[in-house]
Amino acid sequence: MKKIFILATGGTIQMKKDPGRGLIPAFLGEELMRGLAFPDEEFILEFDEFSNVPSPWIKPEDMMKISERINSLTLECDGIIITHGTDTLEETAYFLSLTYSGDKPVVMTAAMRAPPDLGIDGPRNIYDSIKVALENASRSRGVMVVINNSIFSPRDVAKISTSNLAAFTSPEYGLLGTIDEKVIYFSKTVERESIKASSLALPIDLIQAYSGADSRLIRYSVNSGAQGIVLESLGRGNVPPGMLEGIKYALDKGLPVVVSTKVQNGRVAPTYGYEGGGRNLADLGCYFAGNLRANKARIRLMLALGTKEKEIRRYFEKFI
Ligand code: ASP
Repeated sequence: MKKIFILATGGTIQMKKDPGRGLIPAFLGEELMRGLAFPDEEFILEFDEFSNVPSPWIKPEDMMKISERINSLTLECDGIIITHGTDTLEETAYFLSLTYSGDKPVVMTAAMRAPPDLGIDGPRNIYDSIKVALENASRSRGVMVVINNSIFSPRDVAKISTSNLAAFTSPEYGLLGTIDEKVIYFSKTVERESIKASSLALPIDLIQAYSGADSRLIRYSVNSGAQGIVLESLGRGNVPPGMLEGIKYALDKGLPVVVSTKVQNGRVAPTYGYEGGGRNLADLGCYFAGNLRANKARIRLMLALGTKEKEIRRYFEKFI
């Protein structure tokens, strides 16, 4: 009989509304299964209470611990479900996808509504996640995100609504599949990758470009100990000229600067040759993040810098 682990970390899926205080952590992972029945297939379910915190509390160090936990748990089960808050779910999912290379499915799930709200989605998302974890076709796909009947790849999944049940999308590659009575995969998973980091380079700061942006935040970041900087740049990978002085300052101090974009779709590229344009940034020595969004480029950079050889070029150059 197959064995599935639920590794609970917290989020709205484990919360309920406390009168006067709003939503707060309430349920253990084990309590999430109340009232759920699985007539089709028998399996053993076990629980591991990793934490019960809202996901804005989850730090990269926690992601590393979750990763270590799933890497050892998968040796003794057929699949793992991780409950997590939706706010940073895409960051943890991407981190785990780069640090877990086993063939048992690891399914991350969450909820947008908590009791006593009507139409809560947590139980249904767990039900769907169990189906995905039990499905033979899920093997070798690594980490996936299951929410609102949809299966997403960590590489691409993004939260796009603060409140809608259809809170997630996969802007570049589309859904991996759906759960419509049974699990249906539309496409192969986005190419799996692994970064063997022995430590995490922290902090990596994420700095946004906007009209009139200057270099103060970049300078502050460098002077206060950042190990690297990700720029959430404009459009194709461009920044206002006011940011250049700070970027040069960071590069002169030996900090890697990675260019991503705040735009939802498409790649950054050294296309524009004007002052602050992508080509200017590439000539200065910035790395480019392709179509990886800034919050995930940050995860990738902290892992790449945590490898023995600090192999940033290896993990970013293919994007250029
Ligand atoms: N703020 C919550 C969290 O990320 C939202 C959620 O779980 O949906 O923990």
